[in-house]
Amino acid sequence: MARIVMKFGGTSMAGIERIRVVANRVKREWAAGNEVAVVVSAMSGETDRLVGFCREASALYDAREYDVVVSSGEQITSGLLAIALQAIGVPARSWLGWQLPIRTSDGHASARIGEIETAGVLAAMANREVAVIPGFQGLAAGERVTTLGRGGSDTSAVAMAAALKADRCDIYTDVDGVYTTDPRIVPRARKLKRVTYEEMLELASVGAKVLQTRSVGLAMKENVRVQVLSSFVDDDAPAAATLPGTMIVSEQELAGIVGEEETNGMERQLITGIAHDKNEAKITLTSVPDKPGAVASVFSPLADADINVDMIVQNIAHSTGQKAASTDVTFTVPSSDLAKSLDVLGRAQADIGFESLVHDTRVAKISVVGVGMRSHAGVASRMFTTLGERGINIQAITTSEIKVSVLIHEDETELAVRVLHTAYGLDAEDVAG
Ligand code: ADP
Ligand code: ASP
Ligand code: MG
Repeated sequence: MARIVMKFGGTSMAGIERIRVVANRVKREWAAGNEVAVVVSAMSGETDRLVGFCREASALYDAREYDVVVSSGEQITSGLLAIALQAIGVPARSWLGWQLPIRTSDGHASARIGEIETAGVLAAMANREVAVIPGFQGLAAGERVTTLGRGGSDTSAVAMAAALKADRCDIYTDVDGVYTTDPRIVPRARKLKRVTYEEMLELASVGAKVLQTRSVGLAMKENVRVQVLSSFVDDDAPAAATLPGTMIVSEQELAGIVGEEETNGMERQLITGIAHDKNEAKITLTSVPDKPGAVASVFSPLADADINVDMIVQNIAHSTGQKAASTDVTFTVPSSDLAKSLDVLGRAQADIGFESLVHDTRVAKISVVGVGMRSHAGVASRMFTTLGERGINIQAITTSEIKVSVLIHEDETELAVRVLHTAYGLDAEDVAG
């Protein structure tokens, strides 16, 4: 017997027919004698619809009331799944975020999980009852409902698994694992049997939305065994305990397994995956004075406004004629923060001393990720050469120990991901594409 947390995403919960399929899948784990807690998302499209209502009601909505509205999607699916389970003879009840409660910070719309009270759920599970928990929601001090940021049900599931000391956290979604890149863009993408926490964290943070970034960070910190697998398989599909999906593992665990596999003739790839992100916008400040403190005067007001700056490029300074030396500074921010960024920078113009402010939303960030990069040179140069050969212009670059990211024109996203996938030898051989 094991204690498991099963999480089902929006597509898996989209409508009563699918919820029945989910109920059967849960029943299988429960009937095998496991203690089961299920974390559910809202039906796909529902959260977008609810966000739309808030925006329509007022452009400057109160984030506390936004959370009341958008958390309701998960309330509906948790109740429906409990009903569907009961209908097939599985005792079940829903436990809303405020009922457990799942305590969070008061950062409305992107709250962070703190303590989770598990006594009630543990007692119910020990009593052979399935606990159904709406993802994405929690409760802040002052008893206000919070949500965890888009895609947050993954984080709810991992946090529940940690709090319940579950043996496994199975994330059921509409693909059967983590692939070398988004399989909807590259049909030749290959499913990975294992990915390290570090790689998954990088992949998620640069756009692979299969897991919310924070859920991976939490799993790594709390040592939760996370598996990504499909909810769209037949009843006779292999049991989740046989690990048919992608397992997120530590580097040490991987090193042990790979050591074994390499002696069996399988070599680990240099690059594990490629991700893209179209949700960034590029800002350029022209003619920023080339003097100490100039860069700080650009980025401090953005930080004060809670805006995360990602890629940064500063050109070499030039002085022309009588004018003092100046330089252009280019960087990216989340598209959703573009208007705020332009406003903040516009107000700081006199202080910073730049000439003009230019922005571009038609950009995409393409990233290659892999722990193999640590011990091999040439990963970045292969990326630049491959893109150059296809006439794809690079506008900005950032790197970390296990990642290289470039900013390109948005229209070239799919082409860039495909050619890089081939260049790093990631294409599957047996898929037409
Ligand atoms: P859910 O509703 O189950 O949370 P999401 O839509 O949030 O599902 O995440 C699953 C989607 O992530 C897939 O449909 C796929 O298009 C996308 N995706 C992006 N990158 C990857 C990747 N490397 N591997 C698998 N899926 C990916
Ligand atoms: N329903 C929420 C969203 O769409 C949370 C989730 O599905 O993970 O962002
Ligand atoms: Mg998701």
